[in-house]
Amino acid sequence: MYRAPVDEIAFTLKHVAGLEKALESGLLGDLSQDLVDAILSEAGRFATEEVAPLYRAGDRQGAILKDAAVTTPPGWKELYRRWIDGGWNALSGPPEHGGQGLPLMLGIAALEMWNSGAMAFGIGPTLTMGAVEALEKHASEELKSTYLAKLVSGEWMGTMNLTEPQAGSDLNALKTRAEPAGDGAYRIFGTKIFITYGEHDFTDNIVHMVLARLPDAPAGTRGISLFLVPKFLMKADGSLGQRNDVFCGGLEHKLGIHGSPTCTMIYGDGFAKDQPPGAIGWLVGEENRGLAAMFTMMNNARLAVGIQGVAIAETATQKALAYARERRQGKAATYRGDGMAPIVHHPDIKRDLLTMTALTRVARSICYALAHAIDMARADDGEAARHWLERANLLTPVAKAFATDTGVAVSSIGVQVHGGMGFIEETGAASLYRDARIAPIYEGTNGIQAIDLVSRKLLQSDGEHVLGYIAELGESAAGIRASELPGFGHSAEAVDKAVADLLESTQFLQEALKDGDIEPALAGATPYLRQFALTAGAAYLVNAALADEAAERIALCRFYCDNLLGETAALKEAVVGGSESLLKAGAALLG
Ligand SMILES: Cc1cc2nc3c(=O)[nH]c(=O)nc-3n(C[C@H](O)[C@H](O)[C@H](O)COP(=O)(O)OP(=O)(O)OC[C@H]3O[C@@H](n4cnc5c(N)ncnc54)[C@H](O)[C@@H]3O)c2cc1C
Repeated sequence: MYRAPVDEIAFTLKHVAGLEKALESGLLGDLSQDLVDAILSEAGRFATEEVAPLYRAGDRQGAILKDAAVTTPPGWKELYRRWIDGGWNALSGPPEHGGQGLPLMLGIAALEMWNSGAMAFGIGPTLTMGAVEALEKHASEELKSTYLAKLVSGEWMGTMNLTEPQAGSDLNALKTRAEPAGDGAYRIFGTKIFITYGEHDFTDNIVHMVLARLPDAPAGTRGISLFLVPKFLMKADGSLGQRNDVFCGGLEHKLGIHGSPTCTMIYGDGFAKDQPPGAIGWLVGEENRGLAAMFTMMNNARLAVGIQGVAIAETATQKALAYARERRQGKAATYRGDGMAPIVHHPDIKRDLLTMTALTRVARSICYALAHAIDMARADDGEAARHWLERANLLTPVAKAFATDTGVAVSSIGVQVHGGMGFIEETGAASLYRDARIAPIYEGTNGIQAIDLVSRKLLQSDGEHVLGYIAELGESAAGIRASELPGFGHSAEAVDKAVADLLESTQFLQEALKDGDIEPALAGATPYLRQFALTAGAAYLVNAALADEAAERIALCRFYCDNLLGETAALKEAVVGGSESLLKAGAALLG
C-alpha cells in the first residue's frame, strides 16, 4: 500500500526546486516553513489513508454509464466530497474567488500524492484547475462571478473539450460549431471524444470548456474560439436551472485509469427536449483566440500530467521494494540468514530498485523545478518575471514527456521485480503499469512535446535562455569538487561530460533550425528531450546530495552518474548524427 513520502517531497521542494529560497525572499508572501510542512503532512495523510484504499475499487469496477448518467466507483463520490471539504481543491486557487492562493509548488506536491493514491481520481481536479486558470485569465467578469467560486471550491468540476474523431494532435481539423444565439450566448453543435470526467456523479453541475468554430471563422487554428458550456444553466437566483443540450453518449473501455470516465460528449443533438437544439454556451476571451485561452489550461495541465508520471513511479517503487524484501529466491552473497535470500539481496534487483528510485527522483525534481519557475514568474516582475516565464516554457515539455515516460518505465520495472506475480492482477503492479500508459499520450503526446521543446523552446531569447540553463546544470559538477566529499566517485567528471554533450546537441539543433533544416532537427527531437532530462536530472541529484550530504543521497547520485547518465552520450549521437539514416530508412515506410 502507498505511503506518501512526505519528507522526500518536502526536501525536494525546499532544497532542489527552490522553495526554501523563495520563502526567504519574501516573494511568496508570509507563507512559513511550518505551514508548508503542515500542509504537506496533512495531504500525505489524506492520500495514504483516504485515497489509496479506494484505488482497487476504481480499477476493478471503473465508471459505469446508464441512461446518459455516469456512476463513479463505490466510495469515490464520498471521497471527493471529503476531499473538497478538506479544502484541497482550493489550495492554489485565486483568493478573490475563495482559493487559498498557495504557491503552485504546494499544489503540485499535493497533486502528486492524490495521483499516487489513485491516478484516475487525481486527474479530475486537474481539469477543474485548468478551467479555473483559463476563466481567471480570459473570461468576462460576469462569467467569473457566476462560475469561478464554485470551481475553485470544487463544488462543481471543469472539463476540457478539444479532441474530436478527426482532430487529435492537429486541432486545425476541429469541426464543432458555435452559432450566435442573438442574446450574447451561443449554441454549440458537435461531438467531442475522450473527454475526461465529461459526465459523473461527483458534483451536481459540470462546467465544460469547449473549443468550437464560429460561422465566419477563418480556417485552421486561427478560427477556433473557446466556450463555457455548463451541464445545467443557472437561474437568476443562482440555483441550478434548465438541463443544457449536452450529454454523454458513451464511455471508453480503456487499458487503465478505469475509475476515470472517458466520455463521448454530444453537443446540440436535441437531448434537452424542451428547448431549441444547441448547447448554450458563452464565449471565453476573444472570438477566434480560443486556442490561446486553451493553452493557458494546457500548460498547467501538462505539468499536472507530468506529475502523474512521478506519482505512478513513486507508488510502483514502493511496491517493488516491499515485494523484494519479502520474496525469497536463490542465494546471495550479502544474505547471512537461513534458506533462500530475499530477492532484494541480488545485484540485479538492486539495480532495478535503484534505477526506479533515481528516475523517480529525477522526474520529481524536474516537475517541481517547473512549478517553482511558474510561481516565480507570477510573483516576480520585470526582467526576472520574463526569465522565469522562459524557464517555465522550457521545462514544460521536458517535465510532461520525461516524467510520464518515467512513469511507464518505472512501473514496467516494477512488474519485472515482481516476476510472474507482476503479471497477475492481485499484486497491483500490473495496474500501475496499465494506468501509467495513458500519460505519454494525453495533454499533447510526448512526440509533440519533443517537437515543442526543439522547435520553439530552444529559440527563446535568441537561443540564450537554454544555454543559460545548461550552464547552471554545469555548476553542479563544480559543487561536487568544492565539497571534496569522496562518496561522489567520478560523478563530477560524468556530469561535465553529460553537460558538454547536451550543449553540443543543443547548438547543433539551434543551428539546424536557423538554417531551415527542420526535418533533421525534428528527427532528433525525442532523443534530445531525453538527453536534456537525464542531464538535468544528474544536476538535480547532485544538488540534493549536496544539500544535506546524506550518505544515501550521495550514493544514489553516484549510482546514477555511473549507471544511467552514460545513456546521454548515445542520445547525443542520435541527435547530431542519426537524422540522415532515419530519414533515408523512413522513406521506405511511406508505401
Ligand atoms: C483516457 C484519455 C483521456 C483523454 N482526455 C481528454 C480530455 O479530457 N479532453 C480532450 O480534449 N482530449 C482528451 N484526450 C485526447 C488526447 O488528448 C488525444 O488522444 C491526444 O491528444 C492524441 O490525439 P490522437 O489520439 O488523435 O492521436 P494522433 O494525433 O492521431 O497521433 C497519433 C500519433 O502520431 C503522432 N503525431 C501526430 N501529429 C504529429 C506531428 N505533427 N508530428 C509528429 N508526430 C505526430 C502522435 O505523437 C502519436 O504518436 C484523452 C485521451 C484518452 C485516451
